[in-house]
Order: sequence, then structure tokens, then C-alpha cells
Amino acid sequence: MSGPISELVAPKPWLAALQIFGAALFAAASIQMLGGRVGAYLVAGLLLGLGIASLAVSKGFSIDIIFAPMATAAIMAALAAQIAGVLAIDSYLTASIRRVVSDVSQIEGREARSRLLSGLRLLQTVLPVSEAVVFHPNEDGQLDMAARLRSNQIATALDCDQNSTWREGVALCERAFRTRRILATEGQVGSPAIVASVAIPLEHEGRSVGALLLRLKEHFSEEDRPLLTAVAAQLARNFQRDEARADALRASWQSMMFKSAAEQRLEEFRAISGLLTEQRFGAEVLFEVSDAHAVAYLDGTLAYVNPTMSALASIDQKDTAHWDLFSLLGKFRGGVFDEPSIAVRRVLQSSQPYEREIYYPDRNQTLEIRIALAKTRSQTGGEEPLCLSIRVRDVTQTKEYEKLKSDMISLMSHELRTPITSINGFAELLAADESLPAESREFLTIISNESQRLSRMINTFLTVAQLQSADKQAVLKIPLKLDDIVKESIANLQPLAKRKRIRLVVQPNGTLPPVAADKSLITQVITNLVDNAIKYSPDRTTVTVSTALETDAVRVSVEDRGYGIPPEAVDRIWEKFYRVARDGQEKHEESTGLGLAFVKEVIDQHGGTVGIDSEVGKGSTFSFTLPRL
Ligand code: ADP
Repeated sequence: MSGPISELVAPKPWLAALQIFGAALFAAASIQMLGGRVGAYLVAGLLLGLGIASLAVSKGFSIDIIFAPMATAAIMAALAAQIAGVLAIDSYLTASIRRVVSDVSQIEGREARSRLLSGLRLLQTVLPVSEAVVFHPNEDGQLDMAARLRSNQIATALDCDQNSTWREGVALCERAFRTRRILATEGQVGSPAIVASVAIPLEHEGRSVGALLLRLKEHFSEEDRPLLTAVAAQLARNFQRDEARADALRASWQSMMFKSAAEQRLEEFRAISGLLTEQRFGAEVLFEVSDAHAVAYLDGTLAYVNPTMSALASIDQKDTAHWDLFSLLGKFRGGVFDEPSIAVRRVLQSSQPYEREIYYPDRNQTLEIRIALAKTRSQTGGEEPLCLSIRVRDVTQTKEYEKLKSDMISLMSHELRTPITSINGFAELLAADESLPAESREFLTIISNESQRLSRMINTFLTVAQLQSADKQAVLKIPLKLDDIVKESIANLQPLAKRKRIRLVVQPNGTLPPVAADKSLITQVITNLVDNAIKYSPDRTTVTVSTALETDAVRVSVEDRGYGIPPEAVDRIWEKFYRVARDGQEKHEESTGLGLAFVKEVIDQHGGTVGIDSEVGKGSTFSFTLPRL
């Protein structure tokens, strides 16, 4: 047998310290670099090796390599490194949760406190509520008032007996809060205006976060129970969120290691869960709408398909999980929508919605398909694509009505025009008959002039109606030089201007690029604008027509020094049959309120814009642009 352990030679103190420090460093570094599991194996291996070495060395050479302190130091260091790692992740997790809570709170946009009041107001609107109070437990578990709403009539009644009434209400709420049940009592001491009091616990995720007290002017009806539960759940969520937010403000690094920190995170998670419940409203609302809707993630999986969509695409609502974006869109293939993937790609590339009307001759149906990219605000403040929204609308009936309307209009106009032509023709013929008395001939001239006016009005109306129903390709576009068109139109209007001694000035640009437009329509547009400028200006003023080149369009402006248009009329001026009422000015017999509607319709069809700048008493500038070639 070898000698006792006391005979072993101990290393020098500095060497012992170095050994212990080295073992600790090795263990900590292994855990840090290799992670918990692999690091732990390595440290265990080291300790095993050291143990064997220690045994061998002490047996063979009677040297103590201080195994026990080294092993203790290594284990402690390994544990410390592991805890530090967990804490680092924990703090990252806390920060992330906090960020999510603050982000979702921003979606909500409003202070929960103000939402509490809004909830109380809602109750006051739908129920005969005299007073509504929300209570919230303080740190000692006692209920404190958080929000209160009173109707004016009973404020005094309550104040008379403030204390007992108040205490009674709080006691009822405390019971409701503890028992988590809706409690109602009849009558109220000292307040004849109050017929019943109801206390509703505010619960979120199975936890009581407060209580709501309602004082009713009528008896409590059991039928209102679901309503109260629903509003109470909303108030509870608001409350919970408010708490989580306040906690997030209070949070600090010290609290991270304690149980309270874990509780706080739980609280924040509850807030997120509450918000998620509410954020589902989008999908729930789509369930109710009559149009077909689907939402697809940007990976092509379908997030949501409403029943109208599944019916229109003839998919069983239960099977929608097996469908993806393209198989759904494939169901609507037809006409201009023969390759849905091209449409989707265009939407993703340009972020612009894709919208087409597609006619399906086999089922005599017209559907309007719209694919749009929904976006959300990113953390950097920019916009990030979120999902694709697909909407399909059955416009078959609308199309039929539109066709019927335009058929009726053209039929009517034709039927009206034929008799007018005869009236005008015969009136002119008779007016030229010298044998008739002068007075009769004068009347005949009036008949002829009026019938011509009627015919002009019908023509304008017909053009506007036709333009509105025609599709854009129906306009015959050829390259045009706008300066030439302006000159031609002005020449025809000179006699009219002369009659009012109005100076008609043209300021051509001279170097305008051509535009693609329908010559007769654009001539009519310029004529209408200049004609208006002359009509609505006093004698001896100036009307200026100018052209200018803009970035990618050509602009024509007609400026007058006329009566001007009041601001309230400016927005409506392009409407059909809209006429500005001006008192004190001569009534314009020629006015139909169709001239500008025609201008807008034509310019819209050409992909241009119309503009107006006017000041009453000073004059107006009407202008339009056409895209340059
Ligand atoms: P109409 O001239 O046949 O009444 P418009 O559609 O051309 O129909 O014009 C609508 C109204 O806009 C007119 O009643 C007129 O009061 C007003 N308006 C149009 N142009 C001018 C102008 N240059 N200055 C003042 N008012 C104008």
C-alpha cells in the first residue's frame, strides 16, 4: 500500500492558481464556442482525463495535480458560460417581443384608454345606460376606477349619495371580478333614476383584468348578455394591451433575471394574442361580402378564399386548402385573361393592380377580375409587399343594363332627330315664302332656329353617351399637330368672337411633337372650350389659346377674362347637364351643360387630363393635355 495522501507534494501556489484558471478558461471557451452540448462533452472528457492523470501521477510520483479544485472551477465556469448564453438569448427574446408589441400597438394607432371610453360610449348608445364605469385591480388587488362615462341627467342624482352608491357598485364589481360572472342587482338606494346595476367581469385569456359596472335606466334583460360579454372581451383586450405597454416602459435589464420578467413577457404575449384575434377581422369581413375574394401569400399559397369565390370557381369550400393561387386563377381563364401567370407577374413587378373584364361566351357571363398587391409598412418606414388580393365580380347584369341604356339612347336620338329634321326643313321652306305675312315668317324663323338648337343638343348628348359606352379602342387615333387643329378651330369661331368684339389670340408653340388623337373629336373639344370662353365673357375682352410642351404631354390652354367660376362649382363643372347659376347675368339660351362633359369624356378616352383654374370676376383658364407620341 502507498503512503497517506498528506505525503503528496502540492504544486507551488502560483502554478496551482494558473492550473485552476486554465481549466476554468478552457471550460468556458468550449461552451461558448462549441455550444452547450458539444462543449459539455468536451469538458466532461477533460475532467475524465484529468482524473485519470491525477490518479496516475499521485500513485506513481506522489504529486498532487489538484484535481478537485480544477474540476470544480471547470464545472462552475461551464455553468456560468451556459447561463450567460441563455441570458443573452433571453434578453434578445424580450427585446423582440417588446418590439412586436409596440409594432402591433402602432397598427392599433390609438391609446387603449381612449378605446375604453369609446367602448363605454358604444354601450351607452345601444343600452339604456346612465353610468358606465371600468374598474381595474391595483397592486393590492383592490378595484380602482379606470374610466367612467355618465349621462348628464343623472349626474346630480348620483352625486347626492355618492359614497353609498359608489361603495355598493364597487362591491358588486368586486364580486363579479372574483366569481367571473355577470351579476345584476335591481334598484339603487337614493337614485330613483337607476333601475338596475350590472357588473361584468373583464376577462382575457382566462384571466380577470378588471370589471365593468353599468347602471341601467331599465331592467337588465338577459338578451343583452352576449352583447355585454362581447364588449367586455374587447375592453379586456384593450386593458391588457395597455398594461403590457406600461410594463414595457418600466422594463429594465435588472428585471430580466427574475420571475417578474417572465411574467411580463407572458403579459406581452397575451397582448399579441388579443391583437391577433382582432386582426382576423379582415378575413371575417370578406366572408360577408357578396363579391368573390381570395387572399394569397406571396408564395402562391392561398391564405383565404371566401364562399362566393369558391362558388364562382366551382370549388368545394372544404377543398380550398388544396388549391393554390394559379389553380384558382386558372378557373377564370378566358378572353384577354388567357395566361394568369402573366397578370400576376405584372402585378408583382409594377405593384399596380391588374383589372380586366372578361366575357365567357359559353356561359354568357362577364366577370371583372382584379389582382392587387397588398402592402404593409416595413420597419424602416417603407412599404413591403404582404399578399395578393384577388377579387372577382360578376358584372354580367351591369353590362346588360349598360347595353340596354346605350341602345335606348341611340334609338331615342334617332327617333327624335327624324321629326326635328322635318320640322326644321318645312319651317325654313315656309319662312322663305314671300306671300306669307311678315309676322308669320318671323315665327317660322323662330321655329326653325329652335329646332336646330334642339338638334344640336341631341347631337352633343348622343356623342357624350356614345363616348361613355364605347371602349377606348373605338376612338380613331391618328398623329395630329395640335397647333394646326387650334388654328383651324379658331378660324371658325372668329365671326362669333367679332360679334362680341372679343379679341381671339392664338399663341402657338411651333415646336410641338405630334399627339395620337381623333381629329374631329379634338377639334370639337377646342371649339367647345373657346366657344364657352366667348360665351361666358363680357364684350371687348380677350380670349387666348396657347399650346405648350410638358414632360410627356402636350397642353392646350384657353384663357379668358370672363365671369369666372365659383370654387364650389369647379368640381362639378365636368358633370353632364351641370350649369353654373349666375344671377344678374344674361341667361344663355345655348347652355346645355353638356359641352364640358363632352370635353372630359373625349380627353379621358385619349388618356389625357383636363384642368381648370378660375377666379370669379377675373376669368378662367381651361386646359387639357394629350400624351405625346
Ligand atoms: P354649356 O356651356 O352648354 O352650359 P358646359 O358644360 O360647356 O355647358 O359648361 C357648363 C357650365 O360651366 C356653364 O353653364 C357655364 O356657366 C360654366 N362655364 C363653362 N366655361 C366657362 C368659362 N370659360 N367661364 C365661365 N364659366 C364657364
